[in-house]
Amino acid sequence: MSLYRLIYSSTAHPELTPQDLKEILAVSEKNNSENGITGLLCYGNQTFLQILEGEWDEVNKTYHRIAQDERHHTPRLIECLPISCRAFEVWSMQAITLNEFSTEQVKTLILKHSGTVKLRPELMRPDQCLNFLLDVAKIYQLSDNFYLDL
Ligand code: FAD
Repeated sequence: MSLYRLIYSSTAHPELTPQDLKEILAVSEKNNSENGITGLLCYGNQTFLQILEGEWDEVNKTYHRIAQDERHHTPRLIECLPISCRAFEVWSMQAITLNEFSTEQVKTLILKHSGTVKLRPELMRPDQCLNFLLDVAKIYQLSDNFYLDL
């Protein structure tokens, strides 16, 4: 079985609500755990940056389903390649909004991985997007929210 990692970004619908995000996360956790998919969905600056890891067919089907969702638009495929192991094996999907972090943390994180001060994945290389998401997960796991979720 070949394991793949897919990263994409998209722009949120202007009327996206926190409730929408909750519903997206709930359906994602359910579907992804049934389909052997793990990953992270990061939201900030009206932008989604998501990583999906899993068997090729499942990643492919999930991405195409997500791409048709009207709660966001202009999906932009950043990377899709075979990997030897998962980086987000603890989460069938976790949604992290950058609002959960302090302004200083967000600024530092974005500056570390990009040339901009706001989240603009379209200006980032695939390795920068991956490292950004890994750092987001690391900070989240150290925060109180992680313990509340368990
Ligand atoms: P249905 O819920 O019947 O969906 C039917 C259609 O309506 C689909 O086109 C669906 O995308 C769309 N839709 C559903 N609810 C709404 C709504 N409230 N407003 C507008 N359109 C709606 N799903 C996963 O399984 N795994 C993921 O990792 C995942 N990540 C996502 C990330 C983002 C940024 C977004 C926006 C959605 C994500 N989803 C994810 C949800 C996904 O797009 C589908 O809604 C979901 O998988 C169920 O699809 P369905 O066709 O089986 O069911």
